[in-house]
Parts: sequence; structure tokens; C-alpha cells
Amino acid sequence: MNLRHLEMRLESLEGFERPTARLEQYQTPAPVAARLLHHAAMQGAIEGRRVCDLGCGTGILACGAALLGASAVTGIDVDPAAIAVARRNADAFGVSVEFIVADVRDPDLDRAGLACDTVVMNPPFGAQKAHADRPFIDRALELASEVYGIFNEGSAPFVAAYTEGRAAIEEVIRCAFPMRRTFAHHRKDRVDITVEVIHLRRI
Ligand code: SAH
Repeated sequence: MNLRHLEMRLESLEGFERPTARLEQYQTPAPVAARLLHHAAMQGAIEGRRVCDLGCGTGILACGAALLGASAVTGIDVDPAAIAVARRNADAFGVSVEFIVADVRDPDLDRAGLACDTVVMNPPFGAQKAHADRPFIDRALELASEVYGIFNEGSAPFVAAYTEGRAAIEEVIRCAFPMRRTFAHHRKDRVDITVEVIHLRRI
């Protein structure tokens, strides 16, 4: 499936019904999700692979991975309302994804059961709670050897330092991320920020 076609399919998915600021519920725009997935797919990290989406929200990355032929896909999010939407999105695509309501920080999370080849994620950026992305990075590197995550622009040096000795940054892809007005504290209808898709490989 080419990038444009994937983007169009992802565009049709439902977003958050009532996004929660505390959980930093920003749906990944379809062009950014498509870019991440297409890039990972070109590197052989999706088709026939077990993929896990951490903080999957309404499941755009998980459903897209399933559409691209992942052998098994799991999506994890702490918010049951988001998971309900994600399940509808998987049904709309006619794909099978296992969605689990859980906190990625939970020490009792079934790590062995969730072990996979590739993690895709758009975790909280830490705008509401500093360093909220760290437990996602930790969990991702426990579960998979290939990790594709979306981070704030300029995060690469921090991610490199934080994962030193555990992973190496393979690539950083800068993408425009058009953010629609989501929360009351947003002043403009739309803000264009730049994000980085960072590909980490466990060492
Ligand atoms: N990955 C989705 C959603 C991004 S928003 C997308 O690409 O559209 C970040 C998501 O992380 C939200 O759905 C939020 O509910 C979830 N989240 C925040 N903290 C979490 C935690 N500790 N454990 C699991 N999910 C969490």
C-alpha cells in the first residue's frame, strides 16, 4: 500500500470523543501516522511482525499496522473510553487487534505476553506532566528491539542520552504535526508543531 493510500485510509478513523488533557490525548494526524508506519514497513518492521502500540488511544497506529499485514497487533491504553473507540476503528478496517486497558507503568504488566518485534507509539510528550514519555520508552525497549516513536521536536539528544547503553537512534524523521484545538487551554484553532519520529534499535 503506498503512503498516500495508507494516509487516506487512516483519515477515515474515529478520534477521541472527549479528549483528556491530563492524559495528553492528542490523536496523531493521519499523515504523521502514515509516515511512521510506512517508514517502518519499508524497513521490514511491520509485515509479518508482532507489533505493539503503547498509549494507543483510538488506535490509529495499531489499526494501521494491522492493515499493513502485521502478524499480531496489541494496543494498550489506560483510558477505557479511548479503547472503546479503538475497537470500533479496528472493526471498521476489518482487522484483528487485541486492545488492552492498562497503564504502561504498571509493574505487573504481562511483559512476557506482550513481547513483540516492533513497538509503535505516540506517547504523551510530557507537556502536562514532565517526563511522562520516559516510562513509555522504558517499556518499549523491554518489549521490542525496534521502536518507532513520535516525540517533540528537539527530543533526539534527550532520547539518545536517556537510552544510552540500551538502544541506538537509527533515524530521526521530522514531520509537521497540525494540532487542532483540543483543550480549553489552547488559544488558537490550529497550531502547527514539528515532531520527530525517532527509530530506536535495542543494543
Ligand atoms: N497513540 C494515539 C494516542 C496519542 S495520545 C495516537 O497516536 O493517536 C497519548 C495516549 O497515551 C492517550 O490515549 C492516553 O490515554 C495514553 N496514556 C497516557 N498515559 C498513559 C499510561 N500511563 N499508560 C497507558 N496509556 C497512557
